[in-house]
Amino acid sequence: MPEAITFDLESFPLGSKGSLVINLAMLASRTPIEIPLFIFRGAQEGPVVLLMAGMHGDEVNGTEIIRRLINENLINLEKGAVIALPLLNIYGFINFARYVPDGKDVNRSFPGTSLGSLASRMAHFVTHQVLPKIDFGIDFHTGGGMIYNYPQIRCVFDNPLNLDLANAFHPPMIINASLREKSLREQATKAGKTILVYEAGESMRFDEYSIEEGINGTLRFLSHLGLISPIASVPAKKPILIHQDNWIRALQSGFFHPTTKPGDPLHKGQLIGYLSDPDGSDKDDVFSPYEGYVISVNHMPVVNVGDALVHIGKSV
Ligand SMILES: [Zn+2]
Repeated sequence: MPEAITFDLESFPLGSKGSLVINLAMLASRTPIEIPLFIFRGAQEGPVVLLMAGMHGDEVNGTEIIRRLINENLINLEKGAVIALPLLNIYGFINFARYVPDGKDVNRSFPGTSLGSLASRMAHFVTHQVLPKIDFGIDFHTGGGMIYNYPQIRCVFDNPLNLDLANAFHPPMIINASLREKSLREQATKAGKTILVYEAGESMRFDEYSIEEGINGTLRFLSHLGLISPIASVPAKKPILIHQDNWIRALQSGFFHPTTKPGDPLHKGQLIGYLSDPDGSDKDDVFSPYEGYVISVNHMPVVNVGDALVHIGKSV
């Protein structure tokens, strides 16, 4: 039987740090699945912040961001606490996969149930053991498949606290993203907690730019909330605010050759890539329907009709 899945912030004294493992279940081989969890407490009480990555097991940039924050001793709290979960979905991680073995998405399984399948149990643990202990959080992700996301915070622009915290993080791009049903962000909002999503880079690939922006943004976020002293400088360049976004999809199957990069500004009618058949006899240019920015690019060279090619957004 799995061990009891509980932990207690108070068992870590003020000014201390420590770690434990959460045993949610075990593999069919009886190998226990141990989810690592790190606790950092400042000398005084204050806001509690969740840093969580790897809800999608193949999205390694977020795990690397939290690993470096811990390994380079960057979480030196003056007050408050940080709960760090660098790798939630161990199952996906060891299988190089986004989901858990039940084929479900943990981030569409909230609030979860204690007797459900794996995704539901994992969501239930976060809902009942993590969310009640925190005030704020950052949920780290990357693009799915071979989609590269320009480093961005996703939040709700109509919520002033969301936008204030996103600006404090100061990523290269901030996107207005409504709450997805059964997601962690929606569940946190229902519980009165604020979780921002950081999306950067693509799955199964370290992207140094995404990792550095993630580390520096997290430090600015913690500093804004008063947990740490200011140590990361704020870039002069303001984040690009994206109010509305669209995916440009393939009108034919074939090879996709992007001609723009994530973060690039676009003018209306600009060439953003072209589709070709493998022998080069056919070519179909893809244009931007409006002025805006490139949010994401699909780096998968072979696409089917209807596949997402380039994610673009309007800043006004
Ligand atoms: Zn993800």
